Amino acid sequence: MAYQINDDCIKCGVCASECPVSCISEGDAKYEINADECIDCGNCANVCPVDAPQA
Ligand code: SF4
Ligand code: SF4
Repeated sequence: MAYQINDDCIKCGVCASECPVSCISEGDAKYEINADECIDCGNCANVCPVDAPQA
């Protein structure tokens, strides 16, 4: 079960630089996680200032 980024994302970009498999990219409205590559490590959730990445 991959993490998903919800609409609370403020597009700060911190999560993308902390993802060990580089599966987070900037989308139009928010950052997005490639579910096929996410390894469920939780780094993005840990560093996000608004708790947007959810398991
Ligand atoms: Fe990347 Fe880990 Fe977040 Fe998945 S849970 S998107 S692997 S930082
Ligand atoms: Fe969005 Fe949180 Fe990632 Fe920043 S760290 S881009 S607010 S999901």
